[in-house]
Amino acid sequence: MGFKSDIEIAQECEMQPITKIAEKAGIDDKYLEQYGKYKAKIDYNLLKESDKKDGKLILMTAINPTPAGEGKTTTTVGLADAMQKLGKSVMVALREPSLGPVFGVKGGAAGGGYAQVVPMEDINLHFTGDFHAIGAANNLLAAMIDNHIFQGNALNIDPRKITWKRCVDMNDRQLRNVVDGLGGRTNGMPREDGYDITVASEIMAVLCLASDISDLKERLSKIIIGYTYGKVSEQKPVTAGDLHAEGAMTALLKDALKPNLVQTLEHVPAIVHGGPFANIAHGCNSVTATKMCMKLADYTITEAGFGADLGAEKFLDIKCRMAGLHPSAVVIVATVRALKYNGGVPKADLNNENLEALEKGLPNLLKHVSNIKNVYKLPCVVAINAFPTDTKAELDLVEAKCKELGVNVALSEVWAKGGEGGIKLAEEVLRLVEEPNDFTYSYELEGSIEDKLNQIVQKIYGGKRVVLTANAQKQAKQLEALGFGNCPICVAKTQYSLTDDQTKLGAPTDFEVTVRNLKISAGAGFIVALTGEIMTMPGLPKVPAAERIDVDETGKITGLF
Ligand code: ADP
Ligand code: MG
Repeated sequence: MGFKSDIEIAQECEMQPITKIAEKAGIDDKYLEQYGKYKAKIDYNLLKESDKKDGKLILMTAINPTPAGEGKTTTTVGLADAMQKLGKSVMVALREPSLGPVFGVKGGAAGGGYAQVVPMEDINLHFTGDFHAIGAANNLLAAMIDNHIFQGNALNIDPRKITWKRCVDMNDRQLRNVVDGLGGRTNGMPREDGYDITVASEIMAVLCLASDISDLKERLSKIIIGYTYGKVSEQKPVTAGDLHAEGAMTALLKDALKPNLVQTLEHVPAIVHGGPFANIAHGCNSVTATKMCMKLADYTITEAGFGADLGAEKFLDIKCRMAGLHPSAVVIVATVRALKYNGGVPKADLNNENLEALEKGLPNLLKHVSNIKNVYKLPCVVAINAFPTDTKAELDLVEAKCKELGVNVALSEVWAKGGEGGIKLAEEVLRLVEEPNDFTYSYELEGSIEDKLNQIVQKIYGGKRVVLTANAQKQAKQLEALGFGNCPICVAKTQYSLTDDQTKLGAPTDFEVTVRNLKISAGAGFIVALTGEIMTMPGLPKVPAAERIDVDETGKITGLF
């Protein structure tokens, strides 16, 4: 039996003009800036000038995933379509896809099957140019740093301690480490340098957390680009503000700050805006996008990257705290495939029925459910995202086990059926959001960096304690001395395990998590805690998705997924 590909389904959709979608969302014409027929940016002044009461916020997260992703975006879109079918005013807030994964292994990020946002090709490729603008702002700062050094280095920047990298929105391992400034005195000061993928740039995180243009500028000016010469105790951080770069950077970003309006296959208004990496950044769409949806619709569904230990944790502890958001419910996506994966089945065998492994993987799901309910004190429901490879016995087993353990659960068939396949999930979510909740963060900002890390490790991951390497201890001291001790923590960790070891699946206990490196993202306003090696510039696989992507003479694109 053949299935239509995501792009085939997306291209069959008869999209409504974006003006009609805006009208449906209640966006006054004066706030709408059209980018062609099916995309528009929304002026952020709408947020300031509307006095409508905020709608309810629903977070979509997942269990520890398989390498292919678990269908959070798909379920987000499908749930919104289902709520619309039930007559509700609803919007979705999603991240913009990065070109790296689009051309690499994972493919696009506009949902899948009959639960997608469109125009799928545009959203997955250049869209409205936000990422290019972010790249330009990032690289302007890089150019100003090296020019400053070339012109005499009045700030005394140590070229060996520059932490700011150049960036490009592509998986390009060749650029991870480079030496630039070669060619003699007139061509710059030679130094070791490197590139990150654009979504890993701090500018992306800053744009996504900024509440308005002034806040954006202020955050940009605080970005630390490196340190001055001298002993550790004498080194001073150098900021983008010291280089007088923040004004021009903000000018480059003024349109990128405006959320992008598109639609789902069933014409639900969707805002797709911002795309910070879920490891070295917080991994959710922009605060302006989320707030705008809440201003416009009664229900906003939004997604956080990776599994709940990373995505939901950062969404709740960083984004919600900074933006003053109070979610009403959380949906945890689980798949039979990911449960089997957590039960020890290798990726290649995930298509075969295996009830034993399925049951063995369940503790992973239960740990995430318990975190949401008992740590964050939010109502939650498990959505089982049904794949064509799942057997009835497998789906029945997960549902029965969840019910037996008192976990709210609903089968979601939105990939195959669109909104119609998400009615049960929608009904459950609509019930849950009416429950009062005592939303609590997993840690308070006061206390040492190590304290905060211990709380995340113990409460969210289920481990024993955090271990800081000697290097990380030194950095913690330095950051606390610089006045960053009370920033929230953004943990960079493998998404495949609750531990920092990607081979430890399920729900391990009694483990330690080792933090090797602590880095301040002063513009974003969080400390990044790196466990293990962390990739800020991915590479392409042996056969990149790019080899199958094409376009015909009419401009019709094929091969995107
Ligand atoms: P996530 O947001 O969790 O990374 P996505 O929603 O982007 O996951 O889905 C990842 C991939 O899996 C997409 O290519 C999507 O089409 C596919 N997918 C998602 N749900 C299903 C499903 N129920 N059946 C088959 N494929 C699915
Ligand atoms: Mg996704």
